[in-house]
Amino acid sequence: METRPLPLGIADHRHYYLASLAAEVHRTYFYKYPPLPVRWGQQINRKKRRSIRLGSYNHVTTEIRIHPLLDSPEIPAFFIQSVIYHEYLHHVLGASHNRRFHKEERKFRYFRESKEWIRRHLWLLLGIKRNRNVIVPPPPALPPQMVLF
Ligand SMILES: [Zn+2]
Repeated sequence: METRPLPLGIADHRHYYLASLAAEVHRTYFYKYPPLPVRWGQQINRKKRRSIRLGSYNHVTTEIRIHPLLDSPEIPAFFIQSVIYHEYLHHVLGASHNRRFHKEERKFRYFRESKEWIRRHLWLLLGIKRNRNVIVPPPPALPPQMVLF
């Protein structure tokens, strides 16, 4: 019997998109280490949040999980890669956000752009909506400690 490739479902596209972003981070910065599995986390429906954990690294399974809210066309690829890069650093350097960690974090090519992007767009991820009928400026930039990863 003839076999044909299965059509890719939406779930597969999500998977391959994240896998390709992760592969680029791996071959650019962490090629000396085996690549780590990187997956989207489970979607939990919560309209408003006070903080958001954008990524996590499980040191037992060595798996990186990325928050599913980042799975959106509004989120630039470099920002998702900055989260993957951060979690890879936990694999290499351990759990602490110490001075060495911060120093290494700056080696990501779009470090500054990523910090600036989240400063301007965190309200969007936290589910703070702008009024549709009235043009209002976005709320002032939120403090970076609201972003956990
Ligand atoms: Zn961290």
